[in-house]
Amino acid sequence: MEYIVRTHDLCKAFNGDSAVSNVNLNIRKGEIYGLLGPNGAGKSTIMKLILNLLKPTQGVIEIFNQTLTDTSYELFKRMHAIIEYPIFYEKLTAKENLDFHCEYMGYHNKKDIKTALELVNLKNIDNKAVKNFSLGMKQRLGIARAVITKPELLILDEPVNGLDPVGIIEIRDLLEKLNKEYGITILISSHILAEIEQIADTIGVMNNGYLVDEVSMEFIRENNAEYIEIETSHARQAAYILDSKLKINNFKVLDAKKIRIYETDRPQNEIYKTLVSNDIPIQSINTKTASLEDHFLSLIGGGENV
Ligand code: ADP
Repeated sequence: MEYIVRTHDLCKAFNGDSAVSNVNLNIRKGEIYGLLGPNGAGKSTIMKLILNLLKPTQGVIEIFNQTLTDTSYELFKRMHAIIEYPIFYEKLTAKENLDFHCEYMGYHNKKDIKTALELVNLKNIDNKAVKNFSLGMKQRLGIARAVITKPELLILDEPVNGLDPVGIIEIRDLLEKLNKEYGITILISSHILAEIEQIADTIGVMNNGYLVDEVSMEFIRENNAEYIEIETSHARQAAYILDSKLKINNFKVLDAKKIRIYETDRPQNEIYKTLVSNDIPIQSINTKTASLEDHFLSLIGGGENV
């Protein structure tokens, strides 16, 4: 098994208060690793430690099989991160921002800028200043900037925070593409189980600074049924559309705001678009695994967002 990142008894305290305690994390080459845990669990701190933005109080970090030190410049060149929201020159266009980035990084293959913008599906934005971009567009531009220098490891802290369901699906599809087609290993964090379980190959569950579980989704899926869950303020009307327009029969209206569809081979995009075009507002749409939620709630003790 080849690992991209491993931590050994990693600890970080701020003024004597533990934020990360004895974490042994194992991120395999080529996978999407999801760090899941409530706010304050220590996810960002771990990412900052891996990026050498913070120094461990104790423990060792190995990246690409080498121990991380202050002078691991060669290792840092092989990864890219977006911690919190990506920052741009707001008055400049996407292309101008990427031009600047390439200059700064000493990377001169300008053709790759066009490829990166195409990759993240940013179109017709030649004359648009970044300040007029939606949050989803900015996130995608951040990812374009991240992939331009072809990192082997991409680290994203809560990349879908604040996005609407379409934006979430777009980022998810994009990350899957980067992972499958470009072979980029991805470390992503979220406090929302549904977001992580959609995309991750392995989930590391954080609580109170501890890594309380590290489990592969394959292992979890082996024994559990999947379903698509839709949250909407118009569950009854949505049920009518599912039945009449999409010919989906195998679903259950759980309450006035929640529907579960057990035909998981139907694309979420198709369901989402059909409902929205029939004036049904959608708060979220996610594929979920039946007992995964119970499993994580038992580990985390019922954090309200997980
Ligand atoms: P998460 O990313 O899971 O929301 P964080 O890693 O941001 O969690 O925070 C973990 C804990 O460490 C929290 O209790 C937070 O208040 C604390 N913490 C994070 N950064 C600092 C800092 N620079 N100074 C003091 N405490 C911090």
